[in-house]
Amino acid sequence: MHPFTLERPRDLAAALAFQAQAGRTDAAAEYIAGGTDMVQLLQEEVRQPTRLVSLAGVLDHRIEVNDQGLRIGAAATMADVAAHSGIVQQFPLISEALLNSASPQVRNQATMGGNLLQRTRCPYFRDVGYTACNKRVPGSGCAALTGDNQWHAVLGTSDNCIAVHPSDLAVALVALDAELEVRSASDRRTLRLIDLHRLPGDTPHIEAALEPGEVIAAIHVPSGPAARRSHYLKVRTRASFEFALVSVAVALDMDGPRVATARIALGGVGTKPWRTPEVEAALKGVTPGSPEVRNAAALAAQGAQGRGHNDFKIELMQRAIVRAVEIAGARA
Ligand SMILES: Cc1cc2nc3c(=O)[nH]c(=O)nc-3n(C[C@H](O)[C@H](O)[C@H](O)COP(=O)(O)OP(=O)(O)OC[C@H]3O[C@@H](n4cnc5c(N)ncnc54)[C@H](O)[C@@H]3O)c2cc1C
Ligand code: SF4
Repeated sequence: MHPFTLERPRDLAAALAFQAQAGRTDAAAEYIAGGTDMVQLLQEEVRQPTRLVSLAGVLDHRIEVNDQGLRIGAAATMADVAAHSGIVQQFPLISEALLNSASPQVRNQATMGGNLLQRTRCPYFRDVGYTACNKRVPGSGCAALTGDNQWHAVLGTSDNCIAVHPSDLAVALVALDAELEVRSASDRRTLRLIDLHRLPGDTPHIEAALEPGEVIAAIHVPSGPAARRSHYLKVRTRASFEFALVSVAVALDMDGPRVATARIALGGVGTKPWRTPEVEAALKGVTPGSPEVRNAAALAAQGAQGRGHNDFKIELMQRAIVRAVEIAGARA
């Protein structure tokens, strides 16, 4: 492991101040929260920060549900959020996405902020034995384009990177129009979750729309009938401890048996959590379980590009949308 200094600030102001100062002199200073992703990448020498600033004990971990919606402190663990009764009842999609992520041990340790900013599971990124990875070494090429790409994206790709964003939570939150409270030493701002992750384009090594030194302090999710009638469907090669081949987050507002408004986001297929406005528009007025849902789901494939091993995802995501809409529609 590359040597680094671990800083343990006493509060958030100190952590932000430290990063603001380090950012001017030390580009390789990074935050660490639960450490479940960061430590793995340190051990594999994929990441080589010279300084780590611990967020342990300095970020809010409270979970609050009221009439306006939900606020989750970024330090809340995946386990605590998944089990929170207000979230299970009013935002079942979030709880389901988390319970379908990782393992109980990881969920007990991992935080909300860290989950949203975890790095891709592309095997060529995570193994420094492969030289061609634009995300790890800008300008080095992309081994996945011609390599084993069954795990990779079919939407939002570029000729420089086709890696999938791995967070299940992010897909659920994008479907629910969540926003982030972002803090730095000098500023506080709101960022829509759908704008947090960037398309790879020519700069796949820049993944998030955060400035150096900024932290995610909290997540806000508006409440409403669609949030309650929601479902997270995850298709994977084994029932636990596995990332999505395809996932679908659905939230439906119903007018009797028909969809009044639908919100749909896809995971496992995009280089970022993928919202599908065309599918959502086509589902308006449609009855879940009817053949029209399949026609709407087909619109998700517009612009999709398989690279060989991952061609199956284009059909699979349409079928998964049909199933997820049926399950969400049947919810009371
Ligand atoms: C075996 C295994 C299986 C997994 N399966 C799944 C899965 O199926 N689905 C899924 O979604 N995830 C899965 N994960 C990933 C897991 O959810 C993440 O490792 C975890 O959520 C990261 O949270 P953390 O607090 O440990 O982050 P850390 O490892 O501490 O940090 C991750 C990144 O986030 C940054 N960071 C952390 N908190 C903040 C903050 N508040 N503000 C700004 N930057 C921050 C860090 O600088 C770092 O870059 C799996 C992990 C493992 C090890
Ligand atoms: S898909 Fe992206 S992360 Fe994977 S090898 Fe290519 S550039 Fe690297």
